[in-house]
Amino acid sequence: MKFSDVIGNRQAVARLRDMIDADRLPHALLLHGAPGVPKLALARAATQYLHCTNRTPQGEPCGQCPSCRQHQSFNHTDTTFSFPYLKKDDASTCADYLPQWREFLTEHPVEDYEAWLSILKNDNSQPRIFVKESEAILNRMTLSAYVSKYKVLIMWLPEKLRDDAANKLLKLIEEPYDDCKFILVSDDAQAILPTIFSRTQRLELTRPTLDEVAAVLETTAGIDRRDALALAATADGNVTAALHLLDAKGENVEFHDRFVTLMRQAYLRDLPGLKAWSESVADFKREKACRFLAYAARQVRENFVYNLHMPDLNYLTAQEEQFSTRFAPFINAGNVEQLLTLFNEATRDIRGNASARIVLFDMAVHTTILIKK
Ligand SMILES: [Zn+2]
Repeated sequence: MKFSDVIGNRQAVARLRDMIDADRLPHALLLHGAPGVPKLALARAATQYLHCTNRTPQGEPCGQCPSCRQHQSFNHTDTTFSFPYLKKDDASTCADYLPQWREFLTEHPVEDYEAWLSILKNDNSQPRIFVKESEAILNRMTLSAYVSKYKVLIMWLPEKLRDDAANKLLKLIEEPYDDCKFILVSDDAQAILPTIFSRTQRLELTRPTLDEVAAVLETTAGIDRRDALALAATADGNVTAALHLLDAKGENVEFHDRFVTLMRQAYLRDLPGLKAWSESVADFKREKACRFLAYAARQVRENFVYNLHMPDLNYLTAQEEQFSTRFAPFINAGNVEQLLTLFNEATRDIRGNASARIVLFDMAVHTTILIKK
């Protein structure tokens, strides 16, 4: 992992690099920021850079030295990962989950708690960091570093430490051995036990800009810049959410098709067509029907904005915009609020277990009235 692989947060990246160059990395550093802000990648890049024996003039780990090679295969002798896990028995520690953890880091360059839960095959029990893991950390940290100047513990989600597990670590974090570095990576710093939180130095990471998120989508998925920016905006700069949307991109194409059909048939007052339409959307499972309604509401808002001719405020894919050139004039100040209310109420009713066919047909009939306003 290189610093250049970290998405966004260039100032924080530069600060961390400077600390390491000056050999002033704090003993206990907390990288924190909202879920979906890439932080674990920065912790990994910093650790690889700290251990690299041949840093590049550009301030990156070389990628070639034995240390870098070990890091790249998630096998570095002086680096330990700690993370929330499920207790298999009283002796369980993170060491029991290393194959899953490596799979997680490989498959998810941006950490994603939901993805970790599905790898753990979580059955509703809460993954935590348990006291046995703290004991294992104490044991590892008392051994001196094998090959590097520093041994590093990267702990993902210290807010998941159980109180007894956190208490065991307090002394070590407060008076660490000279060759120990703790890098804690948190989605929710306020949820960290105050006794741990107060012993750390903090670096807050913020959401990457839409341009930075779009650039990731362009390179990882090969989609064009416009579509990438539209997805980044929908995800509100949350990288994990944007990647999820990318997975659902096929769904968006399907949703666009249903949205266009609804609006065309509503304009033509084609009631038999609308009946068939509402049955086809009702055939989606309930959650998918609700996702469609959220999509339809977003399209209505985007088309309203489209009329203002302010492209900077508009996030439409190329396909969506093609439809908007003709459709947008039908969305105006006289009907935009009512259409949004209509879609929201349909979502509420479907969630409340009303018959989706009836709700959607009723919604479609009301749309015929509103679209002519
Ligand atoms: Zn190296």
